[in-house]
Amino acid sequence: MKNLLVLSFLLICCGCASVYNPALGKNEFIFINTPQEVALGKALNAQMKLEVAVSKDEKLNTRLKTIGTKVAFNSDRQDLRFVFNVANDKELNAFALPGGFIYINSGLMEQATDDELACVIAHEIGHVAAKHSVKRLQVTLGYSILLSLVFNEAKYVDTKKAIDTVFNYVALGYSRSDERQADALAVKYAYEAGFNPEGMVSFFRKLETEAKKQGRSRPLVFFSSHPPINERIKYTQENIEKIKNNQRLIDCDIKICPKCKRTYSKEFNYCEDDGEKLTCK
Ligand SMILES: [Zn+2]
Ligand SMILES: [Zn+2]
Repeated sequence: MKNLLVLSFLLICCGCASVYNPALGKNEFIFINTPQEVALGKALNAQMKLEVAVSKDEKLNTRLKTIGTKVAFNSDRQDLRFVFNVANDKELNAFALPGGFIYINSGLMEQATDDELACVIAHEIGHVAAKHSVKRLQVTLGYSILLSLVFNEAKYVDTKKAIDTVFNYVALGYSRSDERQADALAVKYAYEAGFNPEGMVSFFRKLETEAKKQGRSRPLVFFSSHPPINERIKYTQENIEKIKNNQRLIDCDIKICPKCKRTYSKEFNYCEDDGEKLTCK
């Protein structure tokens, strides 16, 4: 009875609370906070290490860590310590777990230039920054996660369900709009870290060639997710143009006047009071 009361209280509280997501420039309903996300990510990462052969190759690991750290430093998640792993796998693939655990396959690292690798890492960091997996886990775990947050006990979390959820998108890709957001953030983070964002486009082309060469009916995971490769190349090129002209790649929901601090909805570009150009909150 007490549990139910606490839970309904929490649900009511959460219902009106939303958290600002800097990667997307808008408020979202997120009740898994950073320490909880990291705890969940660690549990999933332990499971992942049973499935994936992690490479001990010093050269590959140093290269990944050097580039990865630069990109992470320029991302919207400064509350996380990203961990980079090389997976011993020939397939051109990469994935991220919640909490900032990034995996890049050795086969991808061998074929990618530094700029291309930076863009792939930036895409994965983009998924973490936009909290794509956190939002998915909130939906699939909903009730059990809420209970565990109330009582601070992991026993309420359906770990098998959490693992299934994460492994499912690791194997099949995220939704179309999530991939599009990660592609936009990839351009932004790679560019801000000093890499050439064109690396994203040239990497897409490499993926395309590789898939054709293998004559696969099932496309490679990194681009199996729904936006077709030519569409991804097209909007990525547009995003590169935008970032070079200092334009935002993702529209924000709330804008603020830097002068008078009035807030506006996204359709406004200038403040009605002083004509100041509005920026994302
Ligand atoms: Zn992706
Ligand atoms: Zn103003």
